[in-house]
Amino acid sequence: RRTEALAGSRGPGRTADGHAVQLLVNLGSPADLDAAAAADSEGVGLFRTEFLFLDRETAPTVEEQTAAYAQVFAAFQGRKVVVRTLDAGADKPLAFADHGDEPNPALGVRGIRLARTAAGAALLDDQLAAIGAAATAGDADVWVMAPMVATQAEARAFAARCRDHGLDTAGTMIEVPAAALRAARILDDCDFASLGTNDLGQYALAADRMNGALADLLDPWQPALLDLVSLAAEAGRESGKPVGVCGEAASDPLLACVLVGLGVTSLSMAPSAIPAVRAELASRTLDECAVLAAEALHADDAAEARRRAAC
Ligand code: PEP
Ligand code: MG
Repeated sequence: RRTEALAGSRGPGRTADGHAVQLLVNLGSPADLDAAAAADSEGVGLFRTEFLFLDRETAPTVEEQTAAYAQVFAAFQGRKVVVRTLDAGADKPLAFADHGDEPNPALGVRGIRLARTAAGAALLDDQLAAIGAAATAGDADVWVMAPMVATQAEARAFAARCRDHGLDTAGTMIEVPAAALRAARILDDCDFASLGTNDLGQYALAADRMNGALADLLDPWQPALLDLVSLAAEAGRESGKPVGVCGEAASDPLLACVLVGLGVTSLSMAPSAIPAVRAELASRTLDECAVLAAEALHADDAAEARRRAAC
């Protein structure tokens, strides 16, 4: 197969007819930094910053954070790094931003919602100040995005806050169905969006992502999830702004082609997943990816979507 012949290829992601798709890595801990930087990618599509905040009694200082971000930006100099602001709260409680017990943590005060309180807003400002300082000192192309955005107002407020800190490329994750449905409006207020398909699937199918008994509902091939991806990608196309995927869905080579066929502009994944995704993408034209996407969208369930795309 063409895919096998291309498995050793390197460089930017492209379809067989040359349509560019950025291939990026997910990064969640400094221990993974060397492997992530060594991967043949165009940068980091999701830098999870929780490692700096969890399991401690007090918030990290701006200086401490600046040093941590600077280390990552130095490893990726000349490349893009999309930093996600703190996605804690709820099931990842912080001693220094306590919201008490919540009966439904996944639906609680998490992600950007932490900024609703003065303490949470101060945490976010410190984080943005640190990202801004580290970005100024290095020469990575630094983008910033907020997790768990549900409304246009949240996206707008976040982008304004980023700009106050000299961070000019501000975006949101789309991992709440409301944000996917209103992606066009959200993109009016920010520069890019990134689909978090793990949470988007959880919330679209109302299935706890930690509950293995619901794995069939959490399957990233669920047509309802693909419908939401399609809406967001379409909003990206219309606005001319990038809409990528940084959830697990991006690391399945065939599904990655479906996502590209739906119109996403970048795919971010574990470094080890990149070669197979690059090869699969290089074996199909953009039109062929669009045909796969249409097949998957017309399926009744996840298993059929996968089967139809594989034919
Ligand atoms: C997601 O929800 O798809 C995502 C990338 O974020 P996380 O897995 O960190 O919630
Ligand atoms: Mg998420």
